[in-house]
Amino acid sequence: MRANTVKAAMFGALQPTGRPHPLLTESTREYTAGPCPVYRDCTDTEPGHYDHFSHIKVLDTDGSEVLDAGMTALSGTDNQPVVYIRNTDYDDAASVHAATAKLRQLLDEVDRLADRVFSDHEKHDL
Ligand SMILES: [Zn+2]
Repeated sequence: MRANTVKAAMFGALQPTGRPHPLLTESTREYTAGPCPVYRDCTDTEPGHYDHFSHIKVLDTDGSEVLDAGMTALSGTDNQPVVYIRNTDYDDAASVHAATAKLRQLLDEVDRLADRVFSDHEKHDL
């Protein structure tokens, strides 16, 4: 009697549940193509990707690169995301804001420089 109860319990435990085993859920997850589910700025649309990135560039009139920036978050032991501007990586928003403030300052100064230079040029009828 007791042997039959154990046998019935074993039989029940071995029957399919219709659900994936919890340890298999990650590896059998279905990914659909589309926007990255982790970083909204990631431009990789490959389903299930682990390395995230995006790149933005300012191009000159001849197509050469004036300035580039973007983000990366690579899989592996150091998965800290970075935002880069040219060759410098920043690992927090405050550092990026400090760098972009300097760039804005420079661009504002370039605008003022252009106004002076072309104004002086016209003023002296050169
Ligand atoms: Zn991504």
